[in-house]
Amino acid sequence: MSEFIDGRMLIGGELVESRTSNWLESVNPANEEVIGRVPAAGPEDVDAAVQAALGAFDAWAGLSMTERAQALRGYAQRLREEGKRILDVEVRDTGNSIAKLRHDVASAVRGIEYFAGLGTELKGETIPASADALHYSVRQPYGVVGRIVPFNHPILFAAKFGAPLMAGNCVVIKPSEQSPLSATILAEIVRETLPAGVVNIVTGDGAGAGVPLVRHPLVKRISFIGSVPTGMAIQRAAAEVAVKHVSLELGGKNPMIVFPDADPDEVASNAVAGMNFAWMGQSCGSMSRILLPDSLYDAVLERVVAKVATIVQGDPAKEETGAGPMNSRAQYDKTLRYIQAGIEDGARLVAGGTRPEGAEFERGYWIRPTVFADVTPQMRIFREEIFGPVMSLIRYRDVDEAIELANDVEYGLTASIWTNDLKLAMRASREVRAGYVWVNGVSRHFLGTGFGGFKNSGTGREECFDEMLSYTETKTVHVRV
Ligand code: NAD
Repeated sequence: MSEFIDGRMLIGGELVESRTSNWLESVNPANEEVIGRVPAAGPEDVDAAVQAALGAFDAWAGLSMTERAQALRGYAQRLREEGKRILDVEVRDTGNSIAKLRHDVASAVRGIEYFAGLGTELKGETIPASADALHYSVRQPYGVVGRIVPFNHPILFAAKFGAPLMAGNCVVIKPSEQSPLSATILAEIVRETLPAGVVNIVTGDGAGAGVPLVRHPLVKRISFIGSVPTGMAIQRAAAEVAVKHVSLELGGKNPMIVFPDADPDEVASNAVAGMNFAWMGQSCGSMSRILLPDSLYDAVLERVVAKVATIVQGDPAKEETGAGPMNSRAQYDKTLRYIQAGIEDGARLVAGGTRPEGAEFERGYWIRPTVFADVTPQMRIFREEIFGPVMSLIRYRDVDEAIELANDVEYGLTASIWTNDLKLAMRASREVRAGYVWVNGVSRHFLGTGFGGFKNSGTGREECFDEMLSYTETKTVHVRV
């Protein structure tokens, strides 16, 4: 029996319960056992966290870049040291497979070190606008940043606050109520390594903690990662209170466009890797739509089905596991509804679609990795983000139609293009409406290359220098000489 996690929030350097005296239980999605609890924050807790952040702001913004970088590197080092402990909790709280989940702590550490090294690049300009004055610009922090993150990469998204901090801001983070436990370990690490109030963590749901954070008058900058409907609700709620800067990293319905010269073996193995079954498809970058020409359709379909059949589904804490359970009952129910919709709309179910068999799958949110063939643009599983382990194979006639189908959804997060024809690769990468495009690759992220969406997939870019700039306001100064 693993340890029960009795989590606390971090407000002003103290590990605290909620003023509401309410708690949220967290469940292991593999067997539905309650494995921990976190405080259910309400508006008063959020206000205390924002006030603490504001109280810490002048001193933090007053540090030199070197001092801020040093503090962040100390924090990153402790995060690295606590990696194993975080991982054990995160596997039980999310159901994501351990072999892949291990990269999340490492990525968070790398992201913090990256921004720690970039601080001194946060430069203004001198502008030769007139001879009688010195015109220059400086980049200044907003003050308090509210950061609201989703359930799928809990520690990665909660821990990577290098950009707002290096820019001189203090933050209030709200993790997802679906998998909040690793954030309570993060709270301990932050408390040990950063000055009180610079980073605050409030646990709770969207209505209790998310909305008050968005609407708080002292929070001028909101950074949100999550679904399109919530992103739109946040934009609306923010605009009702004040003029705020909102960045949104939202959902995707990402296409893999395969051209006729591609190798079917390579395409099939990358399509399955790109779907990210280790996360049960609960990844914003999942390649859920595979667009294929007639000439490759049957060969790729056969190989995808064979490949999916080799995925080991089971206990996410085992190294060999390639697919665990869904994260929550809500995700499980939603995915089953979409599988039903796929069948009703006339798609051909060629793999999965049901609960796996066996004693270990009797409780928990288990669905087998699922593949539909003959999916067409009118179907709901073509158009809507399922955020589950459901892959669709779609047939196209020619290049024009392939690009049209790729773009024929409200989303525009990522796309993957498969061809060795340079002209075709360049044309498709130009015409596809997505914020991140891989040619002959899938799903890899590289620090320094901006990640974010076109269309309803969002605004703003993360994991690059632009992210740090987005946490600053430009001030222009005119000094008459
Ligand atoms: P969600 O939108 O349901 O919730 C995200 C966060 O918002 C949670 O912390 C939640 O408590 C909070 N929230 C909910 N309602 C709120 C409100 N009205 N005001 C303020 N906060 C509120 O998303 P989810 O189900 O946790 O995550 C899945 C979604 O996130 C998918 O659409 C996925 O594609 C997207 N996502 C995008 C990226 C990216 O980088 N673009 C990365 C990961 C996940």
